Amino acid sequence: MIWQLLDRSQIELRKMSRMKKILIIEDEESIREDILEILGNCNEFEAIGAEDGLMGVRLAKIHKPDLIICDVTMPELDGYGVLGALRNEPSTSLIPFIFLTARADKSDIRRGMNLGADDYLLKPIGQLELLLAISVRLAKQAAIETHFRVHLNNAMQATQDRLNYSLYHDSLTDLPNRLSLREHLARLLPQAQAEGKLIAVLLIDLDRFKRINDIKGQVFGDNLLQTVAQRLLGCVTQNDVVARTDADEFAIILNAVDPRGEANNVAQSILEEMTRSFVIDRQEVYLTASISVSLYPQDGRDIDSLFKQVNTAMSYAKQQGGNCYQFYTKDIETDTDEQLALEASLHRALEKNEFQVYYQPQIDLLTGVIIGAEALLRWYHPEYGLLSPDKFIPLAEENGAIIAIGEWVLSTVCSQAKEWQEIVSQSKDVNRQNYLKVAVNLSGRQFQQINLTTKIIHLLEETDLDPSCLELEVTEGVIIRDIEASIAKMRELKALGIQISIDDFGTGYSSLSYLKQFPFDTLKIDQCFIRNMPSEPKNKAIAIAIIQMAHSLGLKVIAEGVETRAELELLCQNQCDEIQGYVFSRPIPAEEFRRLLVSDRRLQV
Ligand code: C2E
Ligand code: MG
Ligand code: MG
Repeated sequence: MIWQLLDRSQIELRKMSRMKKILIIEDEESIREDILEILGNCNEFEAIGAEDGLMGVRLAKIHKPDLIICDVTMPELDGYGVLGALRNEPSTSLIPFIFLTARADKSDIRRGMNLGADDYLLKPIGQLELLLAISVRLAKQAAIETHFRVHLNNAMQATQDRLNYSLYHDSLTDLPNRLSLREHLARLLPQAQAEGKLIAVLLIDLDRFKRINDIKGQVFGDNLLQTVAQRLLGCVTQNDVVARTDADEFAIILNAVDPRGEANNVAQSILEEMTRSFVIDRQEVYLTASISVSLYPQDGRDIDSLFKQVNTAMSYAKQQGGNCYQFYTKDIETDTDEQLALEASLHRALEKNEFQVYYQPQIDLLTGVIIGAEALLRWYHPEYGLLSPDKFIPLAEENGAIIAIGEWVLSTVCSQAKEWQEIVSQSKDVNRQNYLKVAVNLSGRQFQQINLTTKIIHLLEETDLDPSCLELEVTEGVIIRDIEASIAKMRELKALGIQISIDDFGTGYSSLSYLKQFPFDTLKIDQCFIRNMPSEPKNKAIAIAIIQMAHSLGLKVIAEGVETRAELELLCQNQCDEIQGYVFSRPIPAEEFRRLLVSDRRLQV
C-alpha cells in the first residue's frame, strides 16, 4: 500500500486526522472518474467531483475541502480562474491546490505557482504519483496548521501573560500595584492567623512630591519615582513586597519573624536612604518621606482595617511635618478627633477674640539694634490653652478660615506698626534707622486672593502706615504654584512700597538662581540650617553659601531661629544682615515688644 512509502510522521499525522475531503475539478469526465475511483478505493478520502470551473468554485465554498486538484484547461472558467477566485475568498484562500495539466510548459507552471498553486501534476497521471502528491501536500498542510496552532497558542498565552502582568503591576516602576498588594495580603492573612504570626503594613508617602512635578515636569518626576522604587527595594528583603499604591505613595508588606522590630528598621533605613540626594538628568534634588505602620492582627484583622489604620497613622505623620515614621496607635485616633474639634472651634475663634499676635524682634547685625519684628499668631483656646500656629494654620488654610484670620492679623499688625513707627522715628540715635518694619506671614490661600492688593491698600490708608514698614513673608512653595501670577502679584505689592521676603528658604526644592526671577527683597534662611551650624559643617556650608549667593543677587539675608552665641558669631563672620531668634528674644506680646523698643535693648554683636 502506498502509505507504507510515507515516513512515520506522516502516518502518525494521517492517523490523527479525520477522512480528508478532496475536490477534483476536471471537465474531462473519464479522468475525473478515474481519480474519484482511485481516491474512493483508498478509504482515506471523501472525494467530490466538479465538472467545470464554476461548479468547482461553488463546491469548494460549500464543502471547504482539505485539498483541491484542478485541471488547467477548462471552458468558461479555467484552472487559473478557479485558483484566483478561491484565493480571493477568505474561507477558501488557504486550501492546498494542485494543478492537473497535459502541458508542462514552464511559463504555465510559473503562472500557476504565482497565483498560489502548491503543486503540479502532469497528465496522464499514475495512481502512485497521485496519492504521493496528495499525501505530501496534506502532511505539509497539517504541519503548517500545527505550527500556526502552536504559534497562536503561544501568542495568546503571551498576550494573556502581558495582560495579567499589567493588571497587577505599575507600568512606571514595574512594582506590584495596589490590586496585587491586596491579593498578596489576602493570601498572607489566613496563613498568619493559622501560624499566630504578625504582619506589618508600611505606607510610604513622599512629602510635597507634587511640587517636584510642578517645577521639574512630569518626566523628571517619573524618573525620580523609579529611583525611589529602587531605593525602597534596597531597604527590604526578598520575602517582603514593595508596591506602588498611588502616584507618590508606596506600600511594603513585611513578612519577617519580628515584623514590629523589622518595621522600625525598615522605616529608619528608608528615611536614611532619602537623605541622600537624587540625581536625575544631572540635576540634584532632595526628597523626604513620611512613613506609617499598621500591624496585623492588633491594629486590624482584615485588609480594609489595616489600610484604614495605616492611613490614619500617615495623616498623623504628615501633621507632624513629614520626614518621620509613625506606628498606628489609639492615641493618634484621639488626636485626629481633636483636630476635628479644633476645626469646629476655629470658625468661632475670631468672633470670640481668641487670637493674639506676638512679635519676635529682628536685629540688625551691624548695630545690634531692633529693626523690625515678625508677627506670629497665637490662639488662646478656651479648652486647649495657648496654641502655636503650626497646630491651626494648616487647618485654617484647608477650610478657608485663613482668609478672615489673615485679614485680622494684617489689620492688627498695621495699627500696631503705626504706633511703634512713631516711637522709632522720634529716636535721636544715629544707629537707629528711623523706620521699623513688621513682617506678616502670608499663607498660600491668602497670597492667591485676587483682591489681596486692594485690601492691603485700604488697610494702609486706614492705618496711615508707611508701606515700607510692612513686609510680607511668603514661602517658595506658595509662589511657585503659579509663577506668572505670583510675579505679577509681587510686582503689584512692591509697587505700593511693601517689602517681600522668602520665608523658610532652603526647605523647598528650588535653587536661588531659579527664585531670582521673583521680585523680592529679603531671604530668610530657615532655622534648620542655622541649628547646630557650629557643630555641623554641612549646615554651616549651606548657610554661608546662601548668604553669599543672596548678596551677589542684591538680596538681604535674615537668619531665623538663632538660638546660641556660637551660631550668632558664625552669622556675623559671614556677613549675614539680620537675625531673629531666642538668642535675643522669643516672640512676645505687643505690649512687651513696645517696652523692648522704648528701652532700646540691643544685641551684643
Ligand atoms: P515662620 O514664619 O518660619 O516663623 C518662625 C517660627 O520659628 C515661629 O514659630 C517662631 O516662634 C519660631 N522661632 C523663632 N525663633 C526661634 C528659635 O530661636 N528657636 C526655635 N526653635 N524656634 C524659633 P511659630 O510662631 O510657631 O510659627 C510657626 C509658623 O506658623 C510660622 O513659621 C509661619 O509659617 C506660620 N505663621 C505664624 N503666624 C502666622 C500668620 O499670622 N499667618 C500665617 N499665614 N502663618 C503664620
Ligand atoms: Mg515667617
Ligand atoms: Mg520661617
